[in-house]
Amino acid sequence: METQILLGDEAVALAAVHAGIGGAYAYPGTPSTEILEYLVPRAAAGGFTAHWCVNEKTAYEQALGMSMLGARALVAMKHVGLNVAMDPFVNSALVALGGGLVVAVADDPGMHSSQNEQDTRILADFARVPCLEPADPQEAYDMTREAFDLSERFGVPVVLRLVTRLCHSRAAVAPRPPRAPNPVAKAPEPQDWILLPHNARRRWRGLLDRLPEMREAAARAACNVLVPGGRAAGFGVLTAGLARHYFSAEAAGLGFRPPWLHIGMYPAPEEAIRRLAAGATRLLVIEEGYPYLERQVRGVLPHGWEVRGKESGDLPLDGELTPDLVRSALGLPPRPQVEPSSLPLPGRPPQLCKGCPHADSFEAVREALAAFPQSVVTADIGCYTLGALPPYSAIESCVCMGASVGMAKGASDAGQRPALAVIGDSTFLHSGVAPLMDALAANTPMTLLILDNGTVAMTGLQPTRLPGSRLEPLLLGMGVDREHLHVVEVAPRRPGELAALLRDELAQAGVSVIVAVRDCVELAKAERRESEKA
Ligand code: SF4
Repeated sequence: METQILLGDEAVALAAVHAGIGGAYAYPGTPSTEILEYLVPRAAAGGFTAHWCVNEKTAYEQALGMSMLGARALVAMKHVGLNVAMDPFVNSALVALGGGLVVAVADDPGMHSSQNEQDTRILADFARVPCLEPADPQEAYDMTREAFDLSERFGVPVVLRLVTRLCHSRAAVAPRPPRAPNPVAKAPEPQDWILLPHNARRRWRGLLDRLPEMREAAARAACNVLVPGGRAAGFGVLTAGLARHYFSAEAAGLGFRPPWLHIGMYPAPEEAIRRLAAGATRLLVIEEGYPYLERQVRGVLPHGWEVRGKESGDLPLDGELTPDLVRSALGLPPRPQVEPSSLPLPGRPPQLCKGCPHADSFEAVREALAAFPQSVVTADIGCYTLGALPPYSAIESCVCMGASVGMAKGASDAGQRPALAVIGDSTFLHSGVAPLMDALAANTPMTLLILDNGTVAMTGLQPTRLPGSRLEPLLLGMGVDREHLHVVEVAPRRPGELAALLRDELAQAGVSVIVAVRDCVELAKAERRESEKA
């Protein structure tokens, strides 16, 4: 088959198609978004389903349902999305999967567009399932296909751990001939899907019993490679994922070849780690993310063995690996640097697009709050998080999807008046609906401002699951008082009307909701481009 130049994300998507998936599900989140972006336009012709979902939990559950019917399914998300999907993820390791279920999770070391640097390898370990960690787009393709086979072999979901620099790097990928989709057939033993305690105990025991077999598969995996080194080396190197390339590129400068174990599949192969250590007096562990392997290695080797890495300070605990960091950990001098330009370049903080509707909404928020001596404004994740920065400085929190709503309720419970939560329409549907029900049940004095810009703008204009026109009936159905529910158009550069409405509602004694409607500027441009093409 013809070699293609693909992003790491696209390589995962193409491999899923070639693995014969029946469906793929995701919620957009950088750096994983391009997986489903690749699949959605190819789904109809390819004979599979590819859907954006309300959140990562619903995406996971749809993939799980597909697996229950024997078909292969891919679910994709960014690392913090797996927190949202943790319940079905962990429990799905206990049911009797039919079709292979692959969970592609993109970590973001360096937090280019995320709130934390959590490491998905730890969550795969927590769920007791295998995890594959590709080092480049070709491996992303190969490992995705292998992950489906492993999932069917062990009857558990298999995690594919990606990182930003792999997701967004392009390289040549040589695909293999596609495999036909599985025949659809219902699970033969329905009780293996019912996690009532007596079944759950039996299934949990069964999962634990399969762990030695999974460890054995990892020990034999071709992606876990032990390369013997020269005798003079003194130390051994253990790499995982992308670190393989950083180490291979820099090792030439050592002048000798240390023994080297590369790990691409977990559970980590303990015997290979012992064999690596047998040829060395100390080990250096180079990995993206948490010091996950470094800690494991300390548990595998006898007490007192010298294991270096992030916890020892040889590599930083935070941020991405770089070739220079790996050089330094290897004891090599820094490469000569190109002097940065001495031109006095101005700083370029991220900004809302010119004409963005959120800019007018934040002006209105500032104007409305000026009437109150003290206020709290909790907010959420989306383009509108930039409302925290000057010139707006209008919001005071951004923690996780949907947190603005629950936090405003908590602040109000603590006695803060007024308490305002600001959330986008997609984030509201993702995780804001449930905390609003809490606020409604308690009739908490707080105002929710939903910024309905008609799209999931920040991740590249994916469609929201409910059009704005259906937000009002949803909110009314949840019990928002008709008198305190307002759907308003945000007038460009005339924030006064929205500010007056906000001021009134912030002074109310119960829950009020304002849906501020105006399309994202980029959405309007994209629609114009599409109509010009048609
Ligand atoms: S992409 Fe849309 S919502 Fe985001 S900043 Fe630009 S105009 Fe605003």
